[in-house]
Amino acid sequence: MSPSTRVVIIGTGFAGLCMAIRLKQAGIHTFTVLEKAKSLGGTWRDNDYPGAACDVQSHLYSFSFEKNPRWSRMFARQAEIRSYLEHCADKYALRPHLRFEAEVTSSVFDEGRGVWTVTLASGEQMEADVVVTATGGLSRPSYPDIPGLSTFRGKLFHSARWDHEYPLAGKKVGVIGTGASAIQFVPQIAPRVQALRVFQRTPPWILPKPDRVIGRLEQALYAIVPFLQWIHRLLLYWFLELRVLGFAVNPKLMALPQSAALRYLEKSVADPALRKKLTPNYTIGCKRVLISNDYFEAVQRPNVDVVDAGIREITPDGVLTLDGRLHELDAIILGTGFQASESVAPFEVRGRGGLDLNEHWKDGAEAYLGTTVAGFPNLFLIVGPNTGLGHSSMVFMIESQVAYVMSALRALRRNGARSMDVREDVQTDYNRRLHARLDGAVWSSGCTSWYRTRTGKNTTLWPTFTFTFRMLTRSVTVADYRFAAAEPALGRLPAPATDPPRTATAA
Ligand SMILES: Cc1cc2nc3c(=O)[nH]c(=O)nc-3n(C[C@H](O)[C@H](O)[C@H](O)COP(=O)(O)OP(=O)(O)OC[C@H]3O[C@@H](n4cnc5c(N)ncnc54)[C@H](O)[C@@H]3O)c2cc1C
Repeated sequence: MSPSTRVVIIGTGFAGLCMAIRLKQAGIHTFTVLEKAKSLGGTWRDNDYPGAACDVQSHLYSFSFEKNPRWSRMFARQAEIRSYLEHCADKYALRPHLRFEAEVTSSVFDEGRGVWTVTLASGEQMEADVVVTATGGLSRPSYPDIPGLSTFRGKLFHSARWDHEYPLAGKKVGVIGTGASAIQFVPQIAPRVQALRVFQRTPPWILPKPDRVIGRLEQALYAIVPFLQWIHRLLLYWFLELRVLGFAVNPKLMALPQSAALRYLEKSVADPALRKKLTPNYTIGCKRVLISNDYFEAVQRPNVDVVDAGIREITPDGVLTLDGRLHELDAIILGTGFQASESVAPFEVRGRGGLDLNEHWKDGAEAYLGTTVAGFPNLFLIVGPNTGLGHSSMVFMIESQVAYVMSALRALRRNGARSMDVREDVQTDYNRRLHARLDGAVWSSGCTSWYRTRTGKNTTLWPTFTFTFRMLTRSVTVADYRFAAAEPALGRLPAPATDPPRTATAA
C-alpha cells in the first residue's frame, strides 16, 4: 500500500472515522474526510432528541482499539457517544483531514486514468485513487407519505432533526411512529406536554433495557485493569451473538424472547384494552426488537393516548384518523425512522463505462461483502448493503469492513495494480447465498419492516453470526477481483491533467 495513495472518505460517523484512523496507523496520510454537516459524529450528531441513547451496550458499541473505561452507563446517551467520537478524532489527529460543509454530489470513475473525480455541492472537484463511502445506513430521515403533511399549520419536525428551540411544554403534541427513536423520546416529553397522541401503525416488541449507571469505582477498575474491560466486552459480544440462533438459525427459538416480552407487557400495563393495543401480531425479531424501561409507563400517563386507528390525512389543524376523529395538535414529531432499505447511492456514482450505481441497484442494492460492487473499481462502501445488524454492535461490522479495505489497498500494491473491482460472478454468487440464508430467518417471517424494500428484498441485514463476517472480511481473496494494470503503479500516479481546485491530500 502506497503512502501516497489518495483516498477520499465520505462521512464522519463511526465508519468514516474508523477508516481514517486505520489509514493513519498504516502510514497513509494522503486522505481527506468529507462531511456535509458542520461537525463530526454522524448518527450521534443528528439524533440529539431527548432520551437518545444506544441500544447496544457501550462497552461493545465502541472501537475495539479505543476502549473507553469511562462510559457512565451501560447504554450511553447521545452526548457521551458524540464526545467519544470527538475524542477519537483528536486522539488520532484526524482534524487536519476533516472538511465540513463538503457535501459530495457525485463521484465518477475515469477508466482511462483509473481515478475518481469527486464533486462537491459547491462545484469543487477533487481526484482520488480510492473512494470510501461512509455515509451511513440510517442517515437519511424518512418522511411519511401521508396526504396533507405539508398543510399542517403547527410545528412539524423529524426526530433526527429535533427542534430544540420549540417549547413543547404545555402543547398538544402528536408523535407519528413507535420505532426505536419514538420509544426513547416519548417517555421524555410525555411529562412536559399537555397532551400526547402516539400514532401507532404496528406495535413494537419491547423488552426491558438492562441499563444502569456505571459507578466511579467500576470505571476506575476498567481504567486500571484494562483486562477487566476486555472480559466485559467479550462477554457482551457472546451474549448478544447467541441471539443469532433465534434470529437466523432456528426462528422457533424466538418463542423464548417473545414470551419474555409478553410477560413484561403484562406486568407493566394494567389496562387490558391498552395491553391489547400494544401487543404485536408478528413474530418477535421480524422488525427491530426494542428495549425500554419507561415506554409502557409513559403511555399509561393520563395525558397520553396511543392511537391505532390509522391515519387518513393530516389537516392544517392536526391528524385525521380513519375512524373520522380529528386530533387537534400544536406540533407533530415524526418518529418515522430512516430510508434504509430503499438503498440508493447517497449521490450520483458512476463506475466503469459510465455505469450508474442507482441504475445498477434498481432492483435492490447488492454488493460483495457489503463493501465492493462489480463495475466500480476502487470504490468501497462501509455499512453497505446487507451489513446491518438486528442483534449486536454495528461498530464490529464497521471495523471488519475497514480491515477489508486496508487489505484491498495492500492487494493493489502487491499486484502492482491501479484499480480493482470484484468479479460480477463472485458478487452474484455471494448474494444468491446471502439471500437464501435470509429467506429462512425471522426477518422473512411475514411482517413489513424497514429491513426490506417495497418489493420485499432484504437489503439491510447481515444474515448470520458477526464472527463469520469478520472471518470473510479478514483479507481480500485476490481471485475474487479483477485488477487493472498500473501505468504507472499506484503510489506513483501522475499529476492530474488539469490541477483540480483542491486535491484529496488535504492533510
Ligand atoms: C438513533 C439511532 C440509534 C442507534 N443505535 C445504535 C446502537 O445502539 N447500536 C448499533 O450498533 N447501531 C446503532 N445505530 C445505527 C448507527 O447508525 C450505526 O451504529 C453507526 O452509527 C453508523 O455509522 P456510520 O458512520 O456508518 O454512519 P453515520 O453515523 O450515519 O454517518 C454518516 C455521515 O455521512 C455524512 N454524509 C452523508 N451523505 C454525505 C454526502 N453526500 N457528503 C458528505 N457527507 C455525507 C452524514 O452527514 C454523516 O455524518 C443507531 C442509529 C440511530 C439512528
